[in-house]
Amino acid sequence: KIVVLGSINMDLIARCHALPLAGQTLTATGFQQIRGGKGANQAVAASLVGSSVRMLGRVGEDGLAASLIDELKQDGVHCSQVLPTPNVSSGLAMITVSDDAENQIVVIPGANAHVDAATVDQFADVISMGDVLLLQLEIPLPAVLRAKEIAQAAGVRVILDPAPIPATPLPADLFEVDLICPNETEALEIVGRHAKQNATAAQPQEITAWQNVAEQLHQQGSRNVIITLGKQGVLFFDGNQHQHLSAQPVDAIDTTCAGDAFAGALAAKWAATNDLIKAIEFGNQIAALSTTATGLTALRTE
Ligand code: ADP
Repeated sequence: KIVVLGSINMDLIARCHALPLAGQTLTATGFQQIRGGKGANQAVAASLVGSSVRMLGRVGEDGLAASLIDELKQDGVHCSQVLPTPNVSSGLAMITVSDDAENQIVVIPGANAHVDAATVDQFADVISMGDVLLLQLEIPLPAVLRAKEIAQAAGVRVILDPAPIPATPLPADLFEVDLICPNETEALEIVGRHAKQNATAAQPQEITAWQNVAEQLHQQGSRNVIITLGKQGVLFFDGNQHQHLSAQPVDAIDTTCAGDAFAGALAAKWAATNDLIKAIEFGNQIAALSTTATGLTALRTE
């Protein structure tokens, strides 16, 4: 059983020839409404690869709430702990994509911003009964920390995908989890900030340079560290040994949900087998598959 605490959004995507300038009104050439949010995406990915998944979070009291929950249920995710929240909108992302694939995104946290420690306390029993708790940083930090505390007291494994990195300082004990799985940018931001360096550290190009970053992340308290390296695959460090898994060769057309597909599939396999290496291989395969169609569509058709 996987428990996911996190964000649930509706992405409103307008396609335009160019991005609008300040004060300009443009006519879109296309529109799509797609359920998003890192928490919800990871819950769906874990469910689509066969896990029993419970989503914990909040939606607003608006026209979008019902479709968000319906779509999650259609993907097999249990939603009885997704709470309606009075007087706020559901989480929204307003996205404009231009013909040359530039984008502009405004995220409205809405109900996601109301997931606090008291909300998480209501979910304590559900969290304690899971095999794996999967967390991201698209809801307020106190909720993330409280969920981690409840899970760890109950002996539930905790995976943290530290994305997106908030502007506020990150408490040191946030990283004391069983597994952390940042992408390259996030890994550098965490290491940079804790080392009190400038977070704009030069991007290491070589796998060996990433090994050094993984070791620094491990020192911050995470038992196992994975850095996802896009089309270079993933790097895994368990505190003793490094392992690099190349990405599966695919014709990638949309990598937007690759990180979420990876985290969800990894959590699913880890809960099912207790074999972390197998879980990482599986995550790496499913993440590659996810890039062959938009969003998580490729996982639905398998
Ligand atoms: P994020 O989407 O969070 O930025 P990455 O870009 O690192 O994360 O992608 C996550 C994982 O998705 C990678 O570790 C890899 O397994 C897979 N992946 C991403 N891009 C590709 C690609 N072009 N070909 C194959 N696999 C990919």
